[in-house]
Amino acid sequence: MQGSETLFEAAKQRIPGGVNSPVRAFKAVGGTPVFIDRAEGAYLFDVDGKRYIDYVLSWGPMLLGHANPKVLDAVRKQLDKGLSFGAPTALETELAETLCQLVPGMDQVRMVNSGTEATMSAIRLARGATGRDKIIKFEGCYHGHSDSLLIKAGSGALTFGVPSSPGVPKSLADHTVTLTYNDIEGVKQAFAEIGDQVACVIVEPVAGNMNCVPPIPGFLETLREQCDNSGALLIIDEVMTGFRLGPQGAQGYYGVTADITTLGKVMGGGMPVAAFGGRSDIMQQLAPAGPVYQAGTLSGNPLAMAAGLTMLKAVQENDFYEPLFAKTDALVKGLRERADAAGIPMTSNHVGTMFGVFFTEEKTITNYQQVMACDTDRFNKFFHGMLNEGVYLAPASYEAGFLSAAHSDQDINDTLAAAERVFKTLRT
Ligand code: PMP
Repeated sequence: MQGSETLFEAAKQRIPGGVNSPVRAFKAVGGTPVFIDRAEGAYLFDVDGKRYIDYVLSWGPMLLGHANPKVLDAVRKQLDKGLSFGAPTALETELAETLCQLVPGMDQVRMVNSGTEATMSAIRLARGATGRDKIIKFEGCYHGHSDSLLIKAGSGALTFGVPSSPGVPKSLADHTVTLTYNDIEGVKQAFAEIGDQVACVIVEPVAGNMNCVPPIPGFLETLREQCDNSGALLIIDEVMTGFRLGPQGAQGYYGVTADITTLGKVMGGGMPVAAFGGRSDIMQQLAPAGPVYQAGTLSGNPLAMAAGLTMLKAVQENDFYEPLFAKTDALVKGLRERADAAGIPMTSNHVGTMFGVFFTEEKTITNYQQVMACDTDRFNKFFHGMLNEGVYLAPASYEAGFLSAAHSDQDINDTLAAAERVFKTLRT
């Protein structure tokens, strides 16, 4: 820890809060963030040489585990040809083709550099294509930090939003309506009142930014139906769920198809890459084919394309997902059994390779209000206990956890043994 403490002090001198993305700073859980030296398979190694079993996986991308040899080889091979050309390459079409083969309803796709860019551009496209301004999002869902999306709910279900950060104009918030996740009636009511003004609904098909909250049966279907009836477009934000719930993402898993899908994280194999794509009549509205502007100096970067292609080849191998789903299941069940045995009230959600635990007396968690009511002090103690044991969980109780193909049964068993020890310390 000593090395991290020194580095964190130095970082804070030159980087606001010492980090380049806020949740890394351990502000929610307290203490000093762990500075990482290297990573391999299921493990992170910090600057003092301590090993951690990693369930954050760079916030999702490392589905094959860290430093996967095939991904590294593909990047190395491309590296010798140069870092960026600012002109088209065959790799971009190859990755676009792969994405369109895999993701339901995706006829065309545009590469960008981050999930934020993907969702921001998707919303501009939806507004441009429909000629409408209003967007609907859901409380507890995160879609990156563009202005239109940093909006929280107003005081009533149907009031327009209020900025959730200084710097976001109130006039922009007026165009964003924030509804309750999994509230089917609330969605119907909103569409009954303002459906003809709505450009798009944007949703995390499994919410992974308020811990892990799957959709209740009928929720995603209702969004599809209300969009169809009103002429609004459905943006399914699969930045997190894409290739985590199966080769076709959440849309394959739940059988609901978007008009525009946003992707990121796993599709880049750990490189800064994301994408948005969908029906060709919509995508054809984008410049230079159409009038809606969107661009990027480094978009379609060849190293990122090479990493992404290798990642997506791996996920299409037979039986890639089944063992991973089984491991996720075993981890979550094991955690619940051990919490029960220690007398710690806890429940959990998991879908595919995403999971979350909640310190609460409630049996099921389906929305943001319930997540907010969980015992964060207990989570924070759990987090630090596990970190001390060499298990790296997300440093906030509002983040989903992730499994990778590199996690072994032994890693799961070691994690459960650590949790058993830590739960005993949480009783008071
Ligand atoms: N959408 C979702 C569902 C996300 O989980 C995230 C990031 N956690 C984003 C968008 C934004 O992606 P990025 O951090 O790459 O900008």
